[in-house]
Amino acid sequence: MMHCICDWRAFHSGFVSFKDRPGYHSKDALNVSFGLNEDQIAIQELARKFTEDEIIPIAAHHDRTGEYPTELIRKAWEVGLVNTHIPQAYGGLGLGVFDASLVSEELAYGCSGIQTAIEANGLAEAPLLVAANDFQKKKYLGRMTEEPLMAAYCVTEPGAGSDVAGLQTKAVKKGDKWVINGQKMWITNGGKANWYFVLAKTDANAKAGQAFTGFIVDGNSKGIIVGRKEQNMGQRASDTRGITFEDVEVPEENVLGKVGQGFKIAMGAFDITRPLVAAGAVGLARRAMVEATRYAVDRKTMGKAIIDHQAVNFMIADMAIGIEAARQMVWKAGWLKDNGHRNTWEASIAKALASDVAVKSACDAVQVFGGAGFNTEYPVEKLYRDSKIFQIYEGTSQVQRLIIGKGVVDRFAK
Ligand SMILES: Cc1cc2nc3c(=O)[nH]c(=O)nc-3n(C[C@H](O)[C@H](O)[C@H](O)COP(=O)(O)OP(=O)(O)OC[C@H]3O[C@@H](n4cnc5c(N)ncnc54)[C@H](O)[C@@H]3O)c2cc1C
Repeated sequence: MMHCICDWRAFHSGFVSFKDRPGYHSKDALNVSFGLNEDQIAIQELARKFTEDEIIPIAAHHDRTGEYPTELIRKAWEVGLVNTHIPQAYGGLGLGVFDASLVSEELAYGCSGIQTAIEANGLAEAPLLVAANDFQKKKYLGRMTEEPLMAAYCVTEPGAGSDVAGLQTKAVKKGDKWVINGQKMWITNGGKANWYFVLAKTDANAKAGQAFTGFIVDGNSKGIIVGRKEQNMGQRASDTRGITFEDVEVPEENVLGKVGQGFKIAMGAFDITRPLVAAGAVGLARRAMVEATRYAVDRKTMGKAIIDHQAVNFMIADMAIGIEAARQMVWKAGWLKDNGHRNTWEASIAKALASDVAVKSACDAVQVFGGAGFNTEYPVEKLYRDSKIFQIYEGTSQVQRLIIGKGVVDRFAK
């Protein structure tokens, strides 16, 4: 009797032929989809149109002046492009990470500084999604859907960013309250926040995993000192400040999760937010590619459009390679999270890859523009300045590689 090749292999290897798998039809492969559903296309189109009509016309102004885009954020909030993850039970849209990534990419195409200001709400809210009780979600997430408020995530300090275990801000229990003292640095939305997520040390002797607690701190609490707006290299529409906590009293009901769980909660938030930062980087890179392409088909040297010089064309081809690959990684990291799988490793890969793609694409876009690329009258120098922060905030590219490298060992060393 004749066996086909897979039966023959099964016979010799002890594997069961895939042909014998009950109920398998090749059309099942369609369950893996790279297509967007109607709702996803609708929110992507909304974000794209909002970006074209509202963000792009004012992006250069906010970059030049550093003015916070309050009115624009209000408009974005009205059409549902802010606080996208807040569950429907608390008045939000309840979008998953995948769907939110479609929005982030579009907003960042217009201005990643404005997208960062909007995204920082998501960053502050993420620890609440991870660990808040119903009362806290109603009170703090609920209010974000009632008014266009901002919030901020306060982890980094002047002395410790990557080294989260080295944070010095302390919270001490006094009676039925906690008292927070310490200094936070580089806090996005720092001067605009209605409330803060604050990570503080509550046990000086414990290991990092049990030493910290997360708190929700009302922005109008006595003892909060808001620093000056920092003058950053890029993303100047965004508001970055130092925030000092001097004997700030926080009620027990504002402890997030359990005392000692803060480190895990603060890091767990990144599984939601890193794919979205990465999506922003993809949006910026896509803008760099589009601007470079439009310029290159128009600009002529040595008798032809510069796009027809292979050296220029290949720079743009590399942008496309990076953008398409990084977006797939963003989508995978989001899809995993939305389907209840751990995505920490994939989120780090997405962030590291997309950040590098953004910086390289923006740098090469300046190159394609030649002298004009170095000038503020053209859009690409802003993209270059804006791109750099993607390799720094929410975990530097080196920190992402620490996570990725450890994941490789965990997965493949044995
Ligand atoms: C515009 C902006 C907005 C920000 N927004 C926020 C915010 O909203 N909330 C918040 O909490 N923080 C925020 N940050 C802080 C940001 O997350 C940190 O700056 C970042 O994590 C790096 O920390 P650091 O600046 O202390 O650098 P450091 O940790 O001192 O790192 C310096 C350099 O050393 C490298 N390095 C450090 N440790 C290692 C290691 N173990 N192995 C290899 N390399 C290493 C880093 O990769 C980096 O290149 C923001 C920062 C900026 C600039």
